[in-house]
Amino acid sequence: MTAAMIQPSAMLGMLGGGQLGRFFVTAAHEMGYKVTVLDPDIKSPAGMIADVHLCAAFDDAAALKVMADTCQAISTEFENVPAETLATLAKSTIVHPSAEAVAIAQHRIKEKSFFKASGLPVGPFVPVMAESDLPEDGDMYPAVLKVARFGYDGKGQARVANREQAVAAFHRFKLEHCVLEKMLPLDLEVSVVLARDVHGNIAAFPTVENSHLNGILDVTIAPARCSEVIKANAQALAKQLADKLEYVGVLGVEFFVVGNQLLVNEIAPRPHNSGHYTLDACVTNQFEQQVRVITGQALGSPRLHSQAVMVNILGDSWLYSGQQLEPAWDKAYTHENLKMHLYAKQEPRKGRKMGHFTVIGEALQSVLNTAKVARSELH
Ligand code: ADP
Ligand code: MG
Repeated sequence: MTAAMIQPSAMLGMLGGGQLGRFFVTAAHEMGYKVTVLDPDIKSPAGMIADVHLCAAFDDAAALKVMADTCQAISTEFENVPAETLATLAKSTIVHPSAEAVAIAQHRIKEKSFFKASGLPVGPFVPVMAESDLPEDGDMYPAVLKVARFGYDGKGQARVANREQAVAAFHRFKLEHCVLEKMLPLDLEVSVVLARDVHGNIAAFPTVENSHLNGILDVTIAPARCSEVIKANAQALAKQLADKLEYVGVLGVEFFVVGNQLLVNEIAPRPHNSGHYTLDACVTNQFEQQVRVITGQALGSPRLHSQAVMVNILGDSWLYSGQQLEPAWDKAYTHENLKMHLYAKQEPRKGRKMGHFTVIGEALQSVLNTAKVARSELH
């Protein structure tokens, strides 16, 4: 179902109540909309600030009926929402992205196969449905074995040197379907977040640079410090991918850079952690863009108005010296170009994303320096 622009004051729906949903609620409120959040966690960051929080599972028929009956347009912040949920809701209301696009993004075998079939550059990989699919020792190793579903932040992944280790990891993953990817000598990781509307218009945010720590995004630098050719190529590939998917919504596309070659790693059918800097450094942020797409508004400008460095704040920042202590917030707030975003999660666990900050400015080097100082002051 598509329709003319949904007027402010309408109720919108969000599947998932994490920080991405919370930023969506804030953006929607800024624009005059109301939001119903579906999330089974009573203390979900988005549920706590939503107009209505349906505290139920993502396949709860009664909750889905309430959403279908009361929400004029629905989106998701969580790629593991069952594709059937999106398909069911789409029968009676506007839903973006589509169940088909989310089904591809939530399954690594489908995802990688889609990239390959669409002519997009991907690293060597093998779908693994059974132990016999694991290749003999040779070119494919060392490799990373990744479960096809429900992996995130490096979870459900094992680095393996040879077939024997791959077999052991496959058994540890309880014979779940997996992909085996050749380990690549990465020079850099970059990403592009874009929004594509129902007419096929695309507004892409700039190509940014990401570094990871223990499989979790640590720092995003906008714009990426690499050649203009690589940056432009990433923009073109992300747009090509969105067109091929006939995608409608906000899409995150992760790339590996190996030498001067760009390879597509994975996609996220929602705003992306590497797009959080857009909250403070772009004319339109990625969550406002999500509201604009599902309500049928024109896309906003994705222009970067400041250089930006985003640093994730994990639960680890509370858990040092063997104790649980609040980070030193007061020091971080002394930096006038630092924007702090905390997600109101109550339990700081190791590796859990609790918040982030973004430092903005005109010169990237001084932005990087401030970000480094601020991060060290938190501990
Ligand atoms: P997710 O983000 O869903 O946990 P990714 O596939 O993006 O899973 O992997 C997480 C990180 O692990 C990547 O950003 C990259 O740093 C590293 N990684 C993943 N696959 C490879 C690979 N084939 N070669 C080298 N590094 C990899
Ligand atoms: Mg990733």
